This record gives sequence, structure tokens and C-alpha cells, in this order.
Amino acid sequence: MEKIKIIEIFDSIEGEGSLIGYPVTFIRLEGCNLRCSWCDTKYSYDTENYKLLSLSEIMLLIKEFSNKRVCLTGGEPFYNKGFRVLFEEILKENYFLIVETNGTLFDSIIKELWDNYKNKIHLVCSPKPFSDFYINEKLIPYIKELKFIVDEFLKIENILDVLDNFKTDLSLILQPESNRQDMFEKARKLQKELLLKNNLEFRIIPQVHKIFNID
Ligand code: SF4
Repeated sequence: MEKIKIIEIFDSIEGEGSLIGYPVTFIRLEGCNLRCSWCDTKYSYDTENYKLLSLSEIMLLIKEFSNKRVCLTGGEPFYNKGFRVLFEEILKENYFLIVETNGTLFDSIIKELWDNYKNKIHLVCSPKPFSDFYINEKLIPYIKELKFIVDEFLKIENILDVLDNFKTDLSLILQPESNRQDMFEKARKLQKELLLKNNLEFRIIPQVHKIFNID
């Protein structure tokens, strides 16, 4: 089987969103279909600085860390040719699988494995202003958490437009861009407005790995 382009595999805590603080093994896949101006993982695309690893080499590395949770991140994990086999193998090895995606792409492997593994799949979608907050409609039924980066572009209308497409309960997160104080204040205003006018309860959660200066 073709080897998979991997930027890094590392042991840390979940630093963002509703699962913050859990010990997690991160697999950062090479490549992304977007180019967000404030991207903090630019080193994961437009680079030759990746490792080519086989599926069995990756699974051995994951086992070394002994974490129950594995996160496929990037870049954009769906964009990487190895996504499909990794997604399947990690679930079959009984890990809780977190996927962090910009939401624009889809792979039918999610649908194929959903019935057997839906309690072990945590798909976090962070729609981006750089793709007009587009979310692939095939992905929508599998998303469990929506995370909006509160930056200079985000408007309440963007959030409401995205939520119009969802029918089920979700974790709703506002994440101030780069833990900026001014973006926290903007997030707080959005949080109040969404609650008062739309009866939507969002949590404001910073990036804790940046507070503690860890990966
Ligand atoms: S989608 Fe994510 S990884 Fe890709 S450019 Fe945007 S922030 Fe960076």
C-alpha cells in the first residue's frame, strides 16, 4: 500500500473545543485545500518536510503513547490520501477518534463505518471565512461539534447561516483567534447575542496548548 504523508505524530492534550484536556495522540497529515491567512499550521502544507510512513508504522507509533484517543488533524485530514485507511484502522483498533476538519471535503468511509462506530467518532468542523463558511452537505450528518474561530471576519449571520443546515444537537464553540483579548471580547458579544436573540448557547473556549506553550 502507498505510504502516507505525515507531518508529525505527537502526544499531548486536546487543546481546543469540548474535549479539552484529554490526553490525545495527534496525527498531523500533510496537505490542505485552503490557505487561511491566520493558519497556525502552515508548516503542514506547501512543504517537502513530511515523512512517508506505512499504515503499520503509524499504528506502532500510536500504540507507544498509550492514549485512548487519537486525533486526525492537519492541514485538512480529508485532503490527504491516507485519510481513509487511517480512519478505518484507528477505529478498528478501538481508539476514540477525533477528526478536525474545515468541513469542505467528504469521504464515504465515514458513512460505511458510522453504524458500528458512531460513539467512537468525534468530528469537529471549523468552517472558514476563506471558503465562505461552506460545509460539504454529505458531511453534515456526522458533525458533532461546530467550532467558529472568532476573527475579524466572523459575523453573526455567518454562524446562523451555517446552523440553518443542522437538525441535530451539537457542541457549539466560539474560539477567539490566537487567544487574542479583542477577539475574546468579540466572542462574548456574539455569545450574548446568540443566546438572547436566537436561544443558542455557545461556549467560549481558548486554545489551552497556546497558554501552556505546548504542541
Ligand atoms: S483549513 Fe486549517 S490547516 Fe487549512 S489553511 Fe485553514 S486553518 Fe490552516
